[in-house]
Amino acid sequence: MTSVERTLAIIKPDAVEHRLVGSIVRRIEAEGFRIAAMRLVRLTRGEAAAFYDVHRDKPFFDSLTSFMSSGPAVVLALEASDAIVRWRRVMGATNPGEAERGTLRHEFGTSIEHNATHGSDAPETAAAELAFFFRGVEFAR
Ligand code: UDP
Ligand code: MG
Repeated sequence: MTSVERTLAIIKPDAVEHRLVGSIVRRIEAEGFRIAAMRLVRLTRGEAAAFYDVHRDKPFFDSLTSFMSSGPAVVLALEASDAIVRWRRVMGATNPGEAERGTLRHEFGTSIEHNATHGSDAPETAAAELAFFFRGVEFAR
C-alpha cells in the first residue's frame, strides 16, 4: 500500500555554495516529487542546534551545527506517495563514500558531513521538521 506523504528536504549549505540548487531541484522534479513549498534560509547556530537536537550528544554535533549555519540552505516540502522513503533513496547513504552511484550524495557530497542534502527519516520526524520550517505556511496546490 502506498500513501501520499510529505517530507522535508534540505539542500545543504555545501550544495548551495557549489551552485547545485538547480541540479538538485531538477532531480527532485524528475523523480516525480511535487514541490509543495520551498525557500532559502540562513540558519543561526541555535536554529541548527534545535533542528538537529536528536544528535546533541554526538561527537559531530558542534561541527554539524557550524556547517549548517555557515551559509544559505534551501528547504523544501516534497510531496509524493511514500515521499519519505523515496527521498531518502534518491539521496543515498549518509556517507557519500558509501552512497550508491546515481544518488545525490554520491554525486554531490564531499564528506560524511558535507553530504549535500537532508531528508526526514520517518512520518513523525517529517511532521516535526516540516513544522520547523513551514509552520503557518499554506502549502501551494
Ligand atoms: N553527520 C556527520 N558525521 C557523522 C554522521 C552524520 O557530520 O558521523 C552529519 C551529516 O551531515 C548527516 C547529519 O549529520 O547528514 C545527520 O546525521 P544522520 O545520522 O541523521 O544522517 P542522515 O539522516 O542525514 O542520513
Ligand atoms: Mg537523520
